[in-house]
Amino acid sequence: MTEIFNPRTFLDNTGPEIEYSIIVYGSKPGDTLTDARYGMHQRRVEINVFPRLPRNNMSAAEMDRFCASFLACFWWDIKHNNFWHCEFCDKESRVSKTNFMSFVNLDPPKANSYVHLVCDNESGPCANFLRAAGMTLGVLTGARTSTPEQVSSGRTHPLASSCAKCRADTSALSELAHCSGCKLTRYCSEKCQKDDWKRHKPFCKTPKEVKWVWD
Ligand SMILES: [Zn+2]
Ligand SMILES: [Zn+2]
Ligand SMILES: [Zn+2]
Repeated sequence: MTEIFNPRTFLDNTGPEIEYSIIVYGSKPGDTLTDARYGMHQRRVEINVFPRLPRNNMSAAEMDRFCASFLACFWWDIKHNNFWHCEFCDKESRVSKTNFMSFVNLDPPKANSYVHLVCDNESGPCANFLRAAGMTLGVLTGARTSTPEQVSSGRTHPLASSCAKCRADTSALSELAHCSGCKLTRYCSEKCQKDDWKRHKPFCKTPKEVKWVWD
């Protein structure tokens, strides 16, 4: 399979832009069980990136794959939401699940990823709720949905609010500073930010809009 996304070189891509919206949902402890917890107005961050595709005339499947690998490569850059907890309960968020919706047949091509921060995405009431919500989304919109990023069984991720570099749970104990460039990615220290710059740079330089709906 030819590589269609290379984070080291993708700033040099010359294909058309794709409008890619990534929306990350979470909660804070004490959020009430109303819309603030789950619904139209829930806590989230909306990130609009406009990466250039590697070339013209890519197939729909290739564009889908490009978005999926973009998200996978920059997972740690977008995951950090200070003190955000599971979307559905007061437990800390350790894993996430992504619903991907493809509109790449439009001109210009578009795609959305909905990232849900949850305590457990495999079993228990929150996992069930998430599954049900994912199915409703597919039925309502009629869009093709898939899950490009899913945590494999038995893997425990650090907290959603841990540092993008050291990823230590302990880093969530203090306020994590945003990267001043993208205003999104979080670090526990200047050293971690500096050490991570080479990896983070392509994401940081992607033209984007970051809109916090509550922080
Ligand atoms: Zn939960
Ligand atoms: Zn760190
Ligand atoms: Zn940045």
